[in-house]
Amino acid sequence: MSCIYGPVPSRRLGQSLGVDPIPFKTCNYNCVYCQLGRTTPLTNERKEYIESDVVLAELDLSLAGLEHGSVDHVTIVGEGEPLLNSALGRIVRGVKEITGLPVAVITNGSLLYRPAVREDVREADLLVPSLDAADPECFRSINRPWPSIRIEDVIAGLETFRKESAARMWIEVMLLRGLNDSVEALEPLARALERIGPDEVHLNLPVRPPAEPWVEGAGSEGLLRAMAILGDVAEIVPPDGGRFVLRRDVHPVAAVLQVIPRHPLLERDLVRALGGPESVRTHDVLGELAMHPRARRRVYRGEAFWTWADSVVGSSPSSRLTEDSGWG
Ligand code: SF4
Repeated sequence: MSCIYGPVPSRRLGQSLGVDPIPFKTCNYNCVYCQLGRTTPLTNERKEYIESDVVLAELDLSLAGLEHGSVDHVTIVGEGEPLLNSALGRIVRGVKEITGLPVAVITNGSLLYRPAVREDVREADLLVPSLDAADPECFRSINRPWPSIRIEDVIAGLETFRKESAARMWIEVMLLRGLNDSVEALEPLARALERIGPDEVHLNLPVRPPAEPWVEGAGSEGLLRAMAILGDVAEIVPPDGGRFVLRRDVHPVAAVLQVIPRHPLLERDLVRALGGPESVRTHDVLGELAMHPRARRRVYRGEAFWTWADSVVGSSPSSRLTEDSGWG
């Protein structure tokens, strides 16, 4: 599978071409809300999982099929944690040389306490780390990290990176009911954010099927509490993501199979991109996906999503997540 995908529309980054330098679900966190399912394997080993030469050659190939001006940002975002790839520095520099475009890196930020990792992403134009908790217990219950990762180090790493790099920084906070929407959880988080001083703080809610089916986004009370406590730096990002568009030079089924290892695809968006529910193309593509061994249809809160078949998700008797045999 190619490690380049998209461009996909992003509300904040425009048309974003994805570069994915890590194998599926290779991460040092196992977040309860992860839209890729449970982490397999959980690892903290940094190595060249995908060689920089391979990533950059695939980028060249992908750009050849795109119209000039059709990409606004190149976004390095993994099927797991991209900073675990030890060739990331070469990848960031290579992407900038090849495309001349701004580079964004989406990460859990856990390894930025290491100087070599900070050096690898120092030349990025935008860093988007997540930070869901600042106290150790809350951190462990939400992110379920590799045992030696300490939240104090994660926060210190973000703070140091902020001082060393000219990159803009947007911090993403996933707000979860009963986990980090209380005063006790939000006050230490506000203090940590104040120390780090990012350009923006985005509050998010899970909108795609989570790894653990009992996970729920904070309600309006929790959201208001977070806004009040996190103060002026917090901006609420509405939960609906960008629209899915199909590349003309890629078969629709192949396009879906490029996207779903990185994030589940709302069937409604796919149907719209294919020409609506009555179109023959929609019927054919959804029929083909239903038969495909790598794609699985899942229903979450009444919405159908196309997900990667290898995703491992928890189950519970009161699950809001159900598997579905197929379209139609
Ligand atoms: S949400 Fe990101 S950091 Fe958390 S487990 Fe999934 S890939 Fe890893």
